[in-house]
Amino acid sequence: MATNPPTLLLLILDLSPSTWGHRSIIRTAKDKALAAKKKSSAGPAVIDDVIESSLAFIAAFCALNRDNVVVVIGATESEVGVVYPRKGGDGSMNDVVNSRGSERVDRGLMNDYVRLGVAELVKRAAERREQTEKQREQSGEKIIPVEEGVAIASALSLALCIINRFMVASHAGVSALSDATTTYQRRDDEGVLALMGGDTGSGSNAQEPPQRGLLTPRTLIIQSSPDRTSDYNALMNCAFAAHKQNVVIDGCFIPSDRKEDPTSSPYLEQIVHQTSGNTGNGIYLSVPKGPAQVNGALSEVLLSVFLPPIHLRKEMNLPKLNQVDFRARCFETGECIDIGKVCNQCLSIFKERPRERCWTCGAKVRLKANGGSAKRMKVDT
Ligand SMILES: [Zn+2]
Repeated sequence: MATNPPTLLLLILDLSPSTWGHRSIIRTAKDKALAAKKKSSAGPAVIDDVIESSLAFIAAFCALNRDNVVVVIGATESEVGVVYPRKGGDGSMNDVVNSRGSERVDRGLMNDYVRLGVAELVKRAAERREQTEKQREQSGEKIIPVEEGVAIASALSLALCIINRFMVASHAGVSALSDATTTYQRRDDEGVLALMGGDTGSGSNAQEPPQRGLLTPRTLIIQSSPDRTSDYNALMNCAFAAHKQNVVIDGCFIPSDRKEDPTSSPYLEQIVHQTSGNTGNGIYLSVPKGPAQVNGALSEVLLSVFLPPIHLRKEMNLPKLNQVDFRARCFETGECIDIGKVCNQCLSIFKERPRERCWTCGAKVRLKANGGSAKRMKVDT
């Protein structure tokens, strides 16, 4: 029987204070009403539910294989940060990269670090928001408000950089990008791809000594905020990069139960679909509303859907991504559109042609003299 290869898991948590603030208000009101009828809570999940469930998930993940490695990244509206391993603390990133795995990691310490890191990120984001509001009030002028949604694209970029760092460390410090000659580059590429559990296709590294415990990288994004339209390009670029390196991305969306909030994340669906490939398919799940989100049920959902190793997924009955909405979304309004205008500088898509400048890259819009109805808009830089 083949032994399970160890996994490097990058867990990305949506910690947006505005999203979780809203949920907390809704939950408190609902719980009060239910308690009056002597009924237990029926959701929606609040940030504590997600942190508790994530910690349970991490504990189970580390117990599966003692060489498994986990890195937790937190994302708010305008900041992302690694919440575990903790900079300067015991079990810092260097320790984790070099000692590889949970053998030296104290579980209690890990839980404390995750909670502490989350609290710090949330506090900073809330303070920043407050400051912006205050400035706006004082000046009476329009100051660009804090961006809504959560910086998932930045978090995913950071996750891919960390994966690369692990892979370079596993490859005796040699980067796939550092050598000048094509021959070396080629060989290193193959080495890195092999380390990442990918198939180099040529079998040419058969003469190299077998590496101990090759890590298979994967990423799990747990998102609750609505998609941020301005992140679309960056997110898709991350997905292409991840797919090229055989990094599977899983997505878990936790909806609120308000009618006006989205029930799913089309962007997450698209990147999960995009990174499904030869090493295995990513899984996307939108957690059902109601009791499935509270009283430990969320842990059950995470454990049963996202814990099994990627190579076992084809043997299991897991949620399938059947219908992905591939329609483009307007970068300004977030609406699904069938026909749109495309910026010829940055390829952003808009329902209506922007008046003066491209919303995404700022390129100046140049109108056609004959007012033609071309799908591309002309822009000057
Ligand atoms: Zn543009």
